[in-house]
Amino acid sequence: MAIQSLCEAVHCRHDRQSGKPQPRTAASGQRLCLVCRARLKEDLVRLPGLYEGCEEVLSPARSGITERVSSGRARQGIRLNEAPLQARSDMVAVLASWAGAIVAERGVTGLPRREVGTLAAFLARHLDWLAAHPAAGECAAEVRRVTNVARSALAPRPAVPQELGPCPFTDCEESVRTSPGPDLTHVVRCGAGHVLPPDRWLLLSGRA
Ligand SMILES: [Zn+2]
Ligand SMILES: [Zn+2]
Repeated sequence: MAIQSLCEAVHCRHDRQSGKPQPRTAASGQRLCLVCRARLKEDLVRLPGLYEGCEEVLSPARSGITERVSSGRARQGIRLNEAPLQARSDMVAVLASWAGAIVAERGVTGLPRREVGTLAAFLARHLDWLAAHPAAGECAAEVRRVTNVARSALAPRPAVPQELGPCPFTDCEESVRTSPGPDLTHVVRCGAGHVLPPDRWLLLSGRA
């Protein structure tokens, strides 16, 4: 039987039922499977846009459900704005460290400018090398992490689950929390599973 190495990205396939890692076979000569490699490339392509998006969120003039839900809770508003700031600096740090590794280990000249678009494009050009690097799994995971952090920072609710108050459903004694949903959405539901549609969030903010 031929020896096949497995993909080293921690976010590679997981068993749907048990949640246990079930990594795919790595692509020939690489340490990532084709899916994780494609994902890494997609993340690199998407990061500059997310970086820009985080800049817009930082603007204090932004209005919307976030401000309305958090009205009267000034501290929460401050916390919300730290997320995109952190996401931006994480992104630059991760991309710059891998760009540095490429320059140092490949003998490539010209370290790219410390700017997200330039760094991400530089990494994408060296994707084959990155995917075969002994730390390829780590690279894929770090890029994935900063991508996810930026996406949650752009979501109208913070990534960290937050208590919003008691569940308004009759006879329910659980409290309602917010948590990130797929893409840029978020879910507001109580411990018993009652999901609250957006038009009821305002009711909560008044009571929390
Ligand atoms: Zn994989
Ligand atoms: Zn409930």
